[in-house]
Amino acid sequence: MANIAFIGLGNMGGPMASNLLKSGHQVAVFDLFPEAVAKLVSEGASTADKVSTCVKDADFIVSMLPAGKHVEGLYIGDDGLINYIKHGSLVIDSSTIDKGTVIKVSAELANKGINFIDAPVSGGVGGAQAGTLSFMVGGDVADFNRAKPILDNMGKNIFHAGAHGAGQVAKVCNNMLLAILMSGTAEALQLGMDNGLDAKVLSDIMLQSSGRNWTLEVYNPCPGVMENVPSSNNYNGGFMTDLMAKDLGLAMDTAVQSQSATPMGTMARSLFALHAGKGNGGKDFSSIIKMFEKA
Ligand code: NAD
Repeated sequence: MANIAFIGLGNMGGPMASNLLKSGHQVAVFDLFPEAVAKLVSEGASTADKVSTCVKDADFIVSMLPAGKHVEGLYIGDDGLINYIKHGSLVIDSSTIDKGTVIKVSAELANKGINFIDAPVSGGVGGAQAGTLSFMVGGDVADFNRAKPILDNMGKNIFHAGAHGAGQVAKVCNNMLLAILMSGTAEALQLGMDNGLDAKVLSDIMLQSSGRNWTLEVYNPCPGVMENVPSSNNYNGGFMTDLMAKDLGLAMDTAVQSQSATPMGTMARSLFALHAGKGNGGKDFSSIIKMFEKA
């Protein structure tokens, strides 16, 4: 069993750390919120007053933080963990952040003999709780192979996407496509309803036709078409519009750097930013269909 430090015990990190404990690992946890730490300690984790103490004996350091600035600050900022992590340890950062921060942090850690992989996830809070996340990993193959048994305890599908930063690129490509599919599906369903069609009937027709896609299969944005999806629960739960808007921003940054044309992604980013700006940031992203409703 491994000696693991886990930093960032929020909606995702909390259940992920819990699954590592259930798999029998020794886990030292840290978060800025004492309540989040206390919950994991009650499940058998250890902790310390300082994050630097939590990492000093760890062979693996997993982090699950909001954004790139938090990851950069934690590892290579003032009095960063770079000064405390053991030589030869492996950092697994699962936060969704920009590729530039991954390259910068991984290079600085490498200079000190500390290995790093970016390992963002797909699957949401439900996947984190069930241990069924998909991990998209960027970094050296040897580090991927070393991390795989740990990631297997938190996820179901573990992919090596390529070099450092490739995991983040895979993640933003996937979420950009998801945003495009969701807004396109919402637009088509609303067009049908505006012309007298029943949303369930139209959904069934498109599911058996060439418009079929993941949102129609398992995440219909129209209330009442499917049970147990956020649209049938007033768009509560699921994947927040704010997080989709964040991921689309990262996709746009990536596109600017590679000078790639992303007209559909650009439109989707504006739609989700507009929707979030109207006070829907905390609602599930399928609520984008509200943008197409007539007043
Ligand atoms: P969250 O805001 O619930 O949790 C983040 C945690 O990090 C908080 O508990 C916060 O206190 C802690 N934190 C911040 N800075 C810290 C520091 N310096 N030291 C210690 N702890 C610190 O966020 P989340 O929903 O768990 O998301 C985490 C990451 O996972 C984000 O990058 C997000 O984009 C990504 N993600 C989220 C989902 C989702 O559905 N929530 C799905 C896939 C990916």
